Amino acid sequence: MPVAGLGPYDDQNIFARLLRGEIPSRRAYEDEWAVAFHDIAPQAPLHVLVVPRGRYVSLADFTRDAPDAEIAGFFRAVGIVARQFGLEDPGYRILANMGGHGGQEVPHFHVHLFGGAPLGRMIADPALAPG
Ligand code: AMP
Repeated sequence: MPVAGLGPYDDQNIFARLLRGEIPSRRAYEDEWAVAFHDIAPQAPLHVLVVPRGRYVSLADFTRDAPDAEIAGFFRAVGIVARQFGLEDPGYRILANMGGHGGQEVPHFHVHLFGGAPLGRMIADPALAPG
């Protein structure tokens, strides 16, 4: 079920617990700002989630509240992970779901990184396009 992309932040959300090491994950990368791990239900040959270490619900509070260094460090980490998996030459996609219409399910900001095959249309349902 989609969640609200606005706070308050819930310290018991699954990614908070995963960051604290309370539940297992297949970590792919970590640095001062971000942790990347493989999605438990991959939707592409490579499907990795990159999450900031900080307590942010979605892109909304991340871009409102995070210091510039944290925003830069986080997005730099997304690029590093893509490079680490050799995705730059074939290409890849990143995606961040926010709130109800975005279909966000976990209320800790994260970016999906997809790759390993041509990824098709940006939005699966062509009926959503105006006109
Ligand atoms: P979103 O809809 O953007 O909030 O996506 C949440 C993603 O988290 C989904 O793709 C889930 O498959 C993934 N997910 C949920 N629980 C776990 C977990 N324990 N480890 C790895 N990925 C997870």
